[in-house]
Amino acid sequence: MRAVTFQAPGEVSVEERPEPELLDPADAIVRIEATGVCGSDLHIFHGRVQIEPGFTIGHEYVGTVTAVGDAVTRVAVGDRVLGCFQTACGVCWFCRRGLYQRCEQSRTFGHGATLGSLQGTQAEMALVPHADLVLRRVPEGMSSDVALFAGDVMGTGFHAVDASGMRPGDVVAVLGLGPVGLCAVQAARACGAAHVLAIDSVPERLQVAAAFGAEPVHLGEQDARALVRAATDGRGVDVCIDAVGDPKVLESAIRLTRACGSIQCIGVYAERAEVHMGLLWLKAITLRGGHANVLGHVDRVLAMMDAGVLDPTALVTHHMKLDQAPEAYAIYDRREALKIVLTP
Ligand code: ZN
Ligand code: ZN
Repeated sequence: MRAVTFQAPGEVSVEERPEPELLDPADAIVRIEATGVCGSDLHIFHGRVQIEPGFTIGHEYVGTVTAVGDAVTRVAVGDRVLGCFQTACGVCWFCRRGLYQRCEQSRTFGHGATLGSLQGTQAEMALVPHADLVLRRVPEGMSSDVALFAGDVMGTGFHAVDASGMRPGDVVAVLGLGPVGLCAVQAARACGAAHVLAIDSVPERLQVAAAFGAEPVHLGEQDARALVRAATDGRGVDVCIDAVGDPKVLESAIRLTRACGSIQCIGVYAERAEVHMGLLWLKAITLRGGHANVLGHVDRVLAMMDAGVLDPTALVTHHMKLDQAPEAYAIYDRREALKIVLTP
């Protein structure tokens, strides 16, 4: 089968790989119908996240089950399914508390030996461990483009809102309008935010946020602090979502958030970052970070997508063939796309 593999920073290629085989009774094999290119794939592409050359990348996928192990009961051969970007064991200390993102044996598709040596889904076929927990049947009539968001990007946007403690009627600011930030905008609206300020500097992204019901704020051309004050009688937002993962963004989040409000860092931080602790402390702001619990949210997110309450269709800007992956990564790297969907 053909698979997209990492070769060196800035270089991916499409190569022949052996088809996966069942290794464990809880495994399933999925024939991939559609697979997304994600911001996390770009970290690998840039060499910021290091994986072995020749490893298959990708972790967003929809397809058809072609084989299941004896222990798999919730999906069957022939089912059209979507999967989550990571696996979990379902029985460790964290899994028993529903904190699947911190599973002691979690493996992430397409992230090399550091995250469990699980080959990625930008391929014709993929092996899915713990299939009962990781896979869901795609609701009748849902397109692959929409379904693949449930197992990663929309689940992450929803988690940002859910974990922030946002309440109906709150005013929310989302900093950074990549796919996760835009999904957070939509989830905030769907979960009852009275007003969402969506902050970025790319006009096309601001337009999508406006279509999702947010007030677009152009960083650089508009004064975000003044607009936040105007929207909140001078208090600051109840909830601020940092969907970038950059200390400068965190600094603005602390300034934009009201006293006793909360900041949710959903953008990835991998390094030490300086925080104005004095300001955070005086304002009694709650600051949270970490990976999204996509496995814990997937049924809820899928139900909301099925009902049309959440709809990521507008985020899919490119459809390309799996064989065009090198070109797709180059386009994504130039920030010309929001979501590229590859089909084998
Ligand atoms: Zn992703
Ligand atoms: Zn576990």
